[in-house]
Amino acid sequence: MIDFTIIGGGIAGASTAYHLAKKGYAVRLYDRNDTGKATEASAGIICPWVSQRRNKKWYALVRESAKYYPEFIEALKAETGLDSGYRREGSISLFKDDHVQELAFKRISAKQADAPEMGTVRKVSREEVAQMHPDLTDLYPGVLVEGGGQVKGAELLKALKAGFLKYGGEWINGEFDPSNASGTLIYATGAWGIEQQHEPHIRHQRSEVLHFRLKDSNNKQPRPVVMALGPIYIVEMGINQYAIGTTHEDTDSFSAEPSEENYRYLRDLAERYFPDSTIEDIKMMVGLKPYARDFLPFIGAVDDRTIVINGMGATGLTASPLVGREVANHLTGQDTVLDLNDFSYL
Ligand SMILES: Cc1cc2nc3c(=O)[nH]c(=O)nc-3n(C[C@H](O)[C@H](O)[C@H](O)COP(=O)(O)OP(=O)(O)OC[C@H]3O[C@@H](n4cnc5c(N)ncnc54)[C@H](O)[C@@H]3O)c2cc1C
Repeated sequence: MIDFTIIGGGIAGASTAYHLAKKGYAVRLYDRNDTGKATEASAGIICPWVSQRRNKKWYALVRESAKYYPEFIEALKAETGLDSGYRREGSISLFKDDHVQELAFKRISAKQADAPEMGTVRKVSREEVAQMHPDLTDLYPGVLVEGGGQVKGAELLKALKAGFLKYGGEWINGEFDPSNASGTLIYATGAWGIEQQHEPHIRHQRSEVLHFRLKDSNNKQPRPVVMALGPIYIVEMGINQYAIGTTHEDTDSFSAEPSEENYRYLRDLAERYFPDSTIEDIKMMVGLKPYARDFLPFIGAVDDRTIVINGMGATGLTASPLVGREVANHLTGQDTVLDLNDFSYL
């Protein structure tokens, strides 16, 4: 007898499946592993406090999520022995001049009172940026957030799947067949949520990331995540390997082929941020980020046996571990930290 059937094995579905199986419930998950799966393409910044977004419900979600991350990763590692690439080397946000840096410093450090897990927040001069990240351009001053971190989406997914299986979960690679529905159904189908025609309507953005290597760098030290000018980030993926992204394109297409135009754009940015380095391309990654209304995730019931978790957007890697835990607690009658009604806005 299956208690919960989960449709979709990206980070949202896998996290929910893992947390439910860990509580001892019988859980079956179906995953079609579509090309363009957002979790596989994401590079993974966990640093919600620097965002300028003002939506309070969203911020409460990602702030609590970042707080949960260290405990969640530690448990998963102990259970599976797998490393999800999570680490906290800090984040440096870059700004075009000292004036903007000062404004940003005030805005970001004001969040510390409610989020001590941010660690120290301080302004860093161009010279300090160069010391902390010698291959990076020294054109811009920054703000350092010590608690800023990163995770590798694909590795985290492997660890979640291993944890889920360890707790007796059943992972089926393939399309969910509604005639096999058993127990409560949880749809976490990402961009493909449009196929179910549930409310709210799910749309998606196509995002591309360029992975590259700095050929002539001797760096052996881990580097902080860089939030560059505009919505651009640079994440270290290995020794002298980085990912730079992302592009954002609203689209109805489900194509996950990299585009020459976006490759050129990202390659130019890589050259601009690493002006003295020889850059060697590794690969382009393309993912389809799911969005719901107001860019706020939807977490709620669409009928008396069907739950939807979707619209994780640009911060789904940050939010999904906590969302999985909260949904599992809610569905099994336990207390939640968040008021899930805030995300059930039909
Ligand atoms: C390039 C990029 C960079 C990103 N960077 C960050 C970041 O720095 N920080 C951050 O917090 N977030 C980031 N994100 C966002 C994050 O990756 C997404 O929000 C998150 O991965 C979405 O997860 P999901 O489980 O909802 O969807 P997905 O990962 O897309 O998974 C959905 C799964 O459902 C399956 N499915 C669909 N329909 C069915 C069906 N009928 N039967 C069976 N299976 C089905 C699909 O095949 C797919 O495997 C980034 C995303 C991208 C694309």
